[in-house]
Amino acid sequence: MTFSPDDDVEERTSGEAATGGEDVPAEEKPPRYKIDLQWYAENNRSFKAMAQSRMCRSCRGRLGTSVEESLPREDAKTGKVTFETRVTTYGGDPLAIIPNCCSQKEDYITPNLPLVETIFRVFLANGNQPATPQEVTDRLRHWLTIIRVTPEIAQRLMENDSYYGLQPVPESVVAGTGAKEED
Ligand SMILES: [Zn+2]
Repeated sequence: MTFSPDDDVEERTSGEAATGGEDVPAEEKPPRYKIDLQWYAENNRSFKAMAQSRMCRSCRGRLGTSVEESLPREDAKTGKVTFETRVTTYGGDPLAIIPNCCSQKEDYITPNLPLVETIFRVFLANGNQPATPQEVTDRLRHWLTIIRVTPEIAQRLMENDSYYGLQPVPESVVAGTGAKEED
């Protein structure tokens, strides 16, 4: 049995990637997604309940308890900021808690969770900031050593989602300026 190492291999692989047949516009920005809270209202679903059930154990134990919150209030005339104490129920705004507490726990995202669930949790963890599929998969590295989802898969999952309220963010909202007007 003879086997000779193939010297051509290196040459063949190097030149290939540059000249792809696909026509991808260089200027096009990837779409960004987020959890659409309006979608929950329209579908009679409770975002609060969905998000609260993703909180860590200690936060779930505190749900509904009274907490004192110190809120800054700016006087419109003088511009002076004073702090006002208000009593609220803990966990009423999950997006104010999950980024600072629950998502910091190691078991917030684990490999055995469904992929869309992990994507949903990424948005809860970043305060529901719009993110591209690439950014979503990058962020998963914070909890997972092996990422099973590529940006392409993440995008498809978000496009097809009808359970978590993951929706593309309209470009005008993302960019702020409508640079695509002229044709
Ligand atoms: Zn927590």
